[in-house]
Amino acid sequence: RITVVGSVNLDLVARCEVLPRPGETVAGATFERIPGGKGANQAVACARLGAEVRLVAAVGRDPFADEALAGLRGAGVELDLQLVDLPTGVALVTVDAAGETTITVAPGANAALAGFELPPSDAVLCQQEIPDAAVISAWEQAGGLFCLNAAPARRIGVDPDLAVVNRFELESLARADGLVALTLGAEGAVLLEDGEEVARAVPPAVEAVDGTAAGDAFTACLLVSLLEGRSREEALRRACAAGAFAASRFGAQPSLPTAAEVDALLGS
Ligand code: ADP
Repeated sequence: RITVVGSVNLDLVARCEVLPRPGETVAGATFERIPGGKGANQAVACARLGAEVRLVAAVGRDPFADEALAGLRGAGVELDLQLVDLPTGVALVTVDAAGETTITVAPGANAALAGFELPPSDAVLCQQEIPDAAVISAWEQAGGLFCLNAAPARRIGVDPDLAVVNRFELESLARADGLVALTLGAEGAVLLEDGEEVARAVPPAVEAVDGTAAGDAFTACLLVSLLEGRSREEALRRACAAGAFAASRFGAQPSLPTAAEVDALLGS
């Protein structure tokens, strides 16, 4: 059983040939609304991978909230929601033909997440699209494993048992003891324990179309695999495959794999 404390966003996604430069207008894009937010994405990913998941999050009293929560409801995530007088979080995403993105996040309601009580669980999972105080409170209340995906990069004074970072986020970790998974995009990931490499994995080759939620799929799969009692090597290999799966599909929550899809990609 995993409790996620994190963000919920509605992604407003425009696909175009070439990203606009400042001051430029690009016409001819197509548009979709897709449920996103790192907290929601990772909660959905854990659920698709077979875990029992609860998400603590804040949304606004607006029509975007229902749309943003649809993926969580569909995946059977139990919701512990705070309704606040701010707009539901939004990410303005532009994706070009090569899968390159620019993203502007308006946190809205996510910035008001506070004052929650966590039920007992095997693991508490946070990202950094919520206030520092919310991450710290989740860490203080975590009875089992505390896992932090330190994205977007910001130094918060907590000491996770398992941290997941990319190269840019690594420097922001307040401490680098415990287990740290460092993701390297298409090159895969390494697992460090007290700064020493203990495992390394390379993802299966995929045709990458949109990196959105690759890190979310990776984080969720690493945590779920470790909680299932798999070895560190196997957990890292599965996490890399989950990230590759997400990178090979468009959108955030629609691109998150089930356990069977991870198995299939690994050819097992
Ligand atoms: P973030 O988006 O958080 O920076 P990464 O880009 O490092 O995270 O991606 C997370 C994981 O997803 C990687 O460790 C890798 O396993 C997988 N991944 C990402 N991009 C690709 C890709 N182009 N091909 C295969 N796997 C990928």
